[in-house]
Amino acid sequence: MGSRPLERWYANIEGRMRRKPNKVNRHHLVPRTKGGTKSRDNLLRINIYKHECWHFLFKQKTVDEIIVFLEKNPLLPKQRPVLWAILFEGISVSDVIVMLNDIESLRWMVATPPDIDSIDFEKY
Ligand SMILES: [Zn+2]
Repeated sequence: MGSRPLERWYANIEGRMRRKPNKVNRHHLVPRTKGGTKSRDNLLRINIYKHECWHFLFKQKTVDEIIVFLEKNPLLPKQRPVLWAILFEGISVSDVIVMLNDIESLRWMVATPPDIDSIDFEKY
């Protein structure tokens, strides 16, 4: 990463989040590009800032692919501290893997607005 879209997004993310912290939209658990449908089982109601972090961190991976990715990349929260903090609020990789295996706790986590005041935006 370190690509320009991420840098541009990062430049004003704190201000955007503070103006409209509760905005939500929908995420496809199995991406449409991989045959995912609009059924309720395949959709997550997700805070838009968490949604952006999800795709910066995980691209178009499915939940099962994300679990494998996290098992291979346990340092991801240290490598991407702000993205991780916005999406998962400092929860450990192993606890996030537990959550990814329990779709109802995942639904709750991603629908909740980020805890903006707990994030150290200087860390990038
Ligand atoms: Zn999405």
